[in-house]
Amino acid sequence: MGTALGVVLFFLLPLGERPLVDVLAVLLTLGELAVRIRLGMMLSLLLPCGEAALVLLVVFVLVVCHRCPPSFVDESTHAILRYVGRMDTEVLVIGGGSTGTGVARDAAMRGFEAVLVERRDLADGTTGRFHGLLHSGGRYVVKDPPAARECVPENAILRRIAADSIEDTGGLFVTTPYDDPDYADLFVAGCLDTGVPVQEIAVSEALRREPRLNPRISRAFAVPDASIDAWKTVWSCARSAEEHGARVLAYHRVLDLARSDGRVVGAFVRNEQTGEELQIHADVVVNASGAWAGQIAAMAGCKVEILPGKGIMIAMNHRLVNTVINRCKLPADGDILVPIRTVSVIGTTDVRIGDPDAAEATQEEIDQMLEEGEKLVPGFREARALRVWAGVRPLFQETRAEDLDTRDVTRSHTLLDHERRDGVAGLLTITGGKTTTFRLMAEVTVDAVCDHLGTKRPCRTADEPLPDSEDGGHYWLGARLAAREPVPESEEIVCECELITRTRLEEAIARRGTSSLDDLRRTLRLGMGPCQGGFCIYRATGILHAQRRLDHATANAALLDFLQERWKGVHPILYGDQLRQARLDDWIFQGILDVAHLPE
Ligand SMILES: Cc1cc2nc3c(=O)[nH]c(=O)nc-3n(C[C@H](O)[C@H](O)[C@H](O)COP(=O)(O)OP(=O)(O)OC[C@H]3O[C@@H](n4cnc5c(N)ncnc54)[C@H](O)[C@@H]3O)c2cc1C
Repeated sequence: MGTALGVVLFFLLPLGERPLVDVLAVLLTLGELAVRIRLGMMLSLLLPCGEAALVLLVVFVLVVCHRCPPSFVDESTHAILRYVGRMDTEVLVIGGGSTGTGVARDAAMRGFEAVLVERRDLADGTTGRFHGLLHSGGRYVVKDPPAARECVPENAILRRIAADSIEDTGGLFVTTPYDDPDYADLFVAGCLDTGVPVQEIAVSEALRREPRLNPRISRAFAVPDASIDAWKTVWSCARSAEEHGARVLAYHRVLDLARSDGRVVGAFVRNEQTGEELQIHADVVVNASGAWAGQIAAMAGCKVEILPGKGIMIAMNHRLVNTVINRCKLPADGDILVPIRTVSVIGTTDVRIGDPDAAEATQEEIDQMLEEGEKLVPGFREARALRVWAGVRPLFQETRAEDLDTRDVTRSHTLLDHERRDGVAGLLTITGGKTTTFRLMAEVTVDAVCDHLGTKRPCRTADEPLPDSEDGGHYWLGARLAAREPVPESEEIVCECELITRTRLEEAIARRGTSSLDDLRRTLRLGMGPCQGGFCIYRATGILHAQRRLDHATANAALLDFLQERWKGVHPILYGDQLRQARLDDWIFQGILDVAHLPE
């Protein structure tokens, strides 16, 4: 069958219109060894001598040098597409969030050849849209003790190995007048049971630490919560993975999995920036695609029903608190306020949705967040809200009732070995969990990879710090200012809100090799302060243009794209000072710069 199809296709292709490489790609993907030789000989009879010799030579080279089994793509719908590029690896990781980069790093550190593919920028999925809390486990001690137990050691490990991404804010659980006072004792019992370190402190002490807190709180408990910068964590993992030999391919989307004899043997991937398509052959494929894991598993015919749980968060323009504040009650909506970098973030909701790519905040949810914020910090509603966004939890529970609420799904992780579960070898899915437990998730996944490849190699990620965390010093809010203070006049500032100098911006552009304003936003927090890009983004665009990374038409389009994307998160929460700011930004961009009609 494969042979017949190969011959028919071969002769249907108009020679001369399609390059030789296409013909050979078809041969490679459909033919068997014998077919290749036979076709090469038939072709040599039809063509003049020079071309025939060339064809014979290329067929010979392909026959001798090919490394993957000819049936690599037999079962794939992408068999006859133009996969010009080829890569071979031991472990292919799909998904560039905390889980995927953690797996790639762990695999590379254990000496495996590893390739990671991410359809967008790294941490552009849920990891880059989360709440920013390094959990002590306290949130889960009553409702989900296994999840709490996972957080306890991982919190301590990440404080060590990802110190530079973590601000040691500490955390408080407080009983407000709106909370069931009996829960506090259950909470303490749960902490003792699961090992979450907890200490009750006097209300007066809690209010001294956090003067904006609701003065009517009745109890307060200190726990080792902290805030964690997920973008920094992910890039550090990716950097470390690369230092150990992994290849990290951002903007590479998996279009299909490649199968052979019922086993997954790699993936078909498209470079989203160049359009080039690539086949990656792997001994084991790890599906770490979060809320999209069901879509990837389906490419191998496996049913993994992820429940995408949407949560919204609102960034307030400064730090209303300096400690992570949790309401002392069963997890619910809008009950955590996290101080992260220059802002504080209230969240979150948990609503089951269909498509993880279609998560948007509704006005009702926004009002609810502001309402709940008011219960923690009186006056919250009048404070300046900067931006709202939504993320999608990759929730999974193998056995569950049909009408299960997403809040009732465990926050523990799940590793699915599709050989055992579905009879499809070569594919593992790692899902669920939290950013706080990503390292552990990576460890159990790479342990399973070792089993598959019949080898035993110890995990070292709990001991070896990530790049920039070697000295164990935690991030602190004054760091950027302290770096500038000794030389206050020496540098041009591009972004006043986040203290980003021109040198820092240019270094980031070079290091990440990017010309995307959005990539730079994630890297430096460019445009994420109170002006939401009003003053910095046209400067940054100008610098990219001056460096010849963007021609003027692309620069104009990039500026507009950025403004439009920011607008999506800003317009649902426009009131008070932020409305004034938006009006000012509008004058700058529409009035002074007339961005919609920049010269061609
Ligand atoms: C609202 C909210 C708040 C949260 N708050 C916290 C918190 O405070 N603390 C905490 O520890 N955890 C928190 N979590 C949980 C945590 O954010 C997630 O569990 C974690 O980020 C999941 O990481 P991941 O790498 O598995 O998924 P993701 O970060 O989503 O990564 C998966 C990646 O796969 C990519 N992908 C999808 N399809 C393809 C394809 N075809 N080809 C290539 N790539 C593909 C996606 O683009 C994505 O980047 C929160 C979650 C939500 C939703």
